[in-house]
Amino acid sequence: MLNSMRIHILLLIITAGLIPVLVSTFLLLNEYENKAMDKRLNELQNQGDLLSKLILPSGYLSGAQDNTINGEIERISEIFHGRILIVNSSLNIIKDTYGLEEGKYLISENVIQTFQGKSSKRKDSKNDLIFVTNPIVHNISKEIMGVIVMNFSTKDIQTMRDSLEKKAILSFATLTILIMVCAVYFSRKLTKPLTSIVYSIDHLTEGYMDEGVSIKGFYEIEKISDSFNHLIGRMQKLERSRQEFVSNVSHELKTPITSIKVLADSLLMQEDTPVELYREFLVDIAEEIERENKIINDLLSLVKLDKTAGDMNISIVNINELLEQLLKRLGPIAKKKNVEIIYESFRPVIAEVDEVKLSLAITNLVENAIKYNVDDGWIRVSLNADHKYFFVKVSDSGIGIPEDALDNIFDRFYRVDKARSRESGGTGLGLSITKNVIQMHRGAIKVYSNEGEGTTFNVRIPLNYIA
Ligand code: ADP
Repeated sequence: MLNSMRIHILLLIITAGLIPVLVSTFLLLNEYENKAMDKRLNELQNQGDLLSKLILPSGYLSGAQDNTINGEIERISEIFHGRILIVNSSLNIIKDTYGLEEGKYLISENVIQTFQGKSSKRKDSKNDLIFVTNPIVHNISKEIMGVIVMNFSTKDIQTMRDSLEKKAILSFATLTILIMVCAVYFSRKLTKPLTSIVYSIDHLTEGYMDEGVSIKGFYEIEKISDSFNHLIGRMQKLERSRQEFVSNVSHELKTPITSIKVLADSLLMQEDTPVELYREFLVDIAEEIERENKIINDLLSLVKLDKTAGDMNISIVNINELLEQLLKRLGPIAKKKNVEIIYESFRPVIAEVDEVKLSLAITNLVENAIKYNVDDGWIRVSLNADHKYFFVKVSDSGIGIPEDALDNIFDRFYRVDKARSRESGGTGLGLSITKNVIQMHRGAIKVYSNEGEGTTFNVRIPLNYIA
């Protein structure tokens, strides 16, 4: 459950939405308080400066009473809610707006420092207080004649901050609810297509392959759904080809057996069958057995090629020699039809190949060129190479392949003319074996043909084996 994508998206939206708001609100409130305090301090210092300018020429510090000055002092202390003390050079308090300390002496560090020329301003956020001391400086002698001590409450700033804080908390709570609703909505919306995909896959697993997956929504999800359908299409194609293959195999294997059965039955049904007929039929039966054997062998090589796709027996092979040997072996078969085999080699070729498999592939091509050739025809086998590949070309003067069949000749059991192929001992597996072998060498095979004129197979294989 905790590993669920939905929970993660939910948590992500909540954290991404709320934490920045929380932090910035806190920072803003602190900034407000600091700025307001600084402003208050500056204002008080300005008032202190003005007051000192008023006090200095009046003889107030020497005890002379002045209603204007007293009025001004009272006014400032009332406006800013605080206490103002005026101290003369003997540290004697000559004015206290609270009326408590007048006539007494004020010996405090701040006052003494101010007399030494260091006016001070200080915030006490804990008790919501600010202190400001202002020197009363003589115009000409620059002597410090007295000090104005101001002691003010900042409760109003704190009250304002508290009220802002309450509003912020309220807004935050509203925002939290809103973000929660959005988070639930979006996490559902984002994960719903995935749930649909899982549902569809389960549905497919139950056997409803044809329905595929159809999920609308985000582009990426639609892409997944498309790719999935693609995969299903491919699986269906593979399944169809597997079924086709199995039915072809059964059919191909059954044909010789049916013939054998017919031949044997007809011998059994006749009484007093002459020995010559037995002989004749047995020759036919032997031929059918030979054919069955060939189909089984071809099938076994094909299955082996499929199974051992990664199991190539690669060695460095002289391709010229390989082709020469192979053509020498096929010479007698060609001779039977009086087909001439011409071999052309444009350069010596040494390549990394699986010798046995490659021989099988090329033999199939040359065997076909003989099988589907006309009497007294020719076959031209040529070998060439560039810096990357070697090329084997097998051309013949045979019957050719109709254009509409060209795409199918590499399919298992495909034969253009079943009767002809059968007559010449074909199984329809030769070219698919050849193609498999060439693909295992990361090569390519192409066919060009004109019906009635001849056929050319071009094979291209890398000189260095690519695993
Ligand atoms: P087969 O055992 O029937 O020869 P292949 O897979 O080797 O099977 O070839 C498939 C079909 O392609 C053949 O049945 C034949 O009709 C056609 N074919 C192959 N090679 C040639 C060729 N050189 N000339 C004409 N047709 C060919």
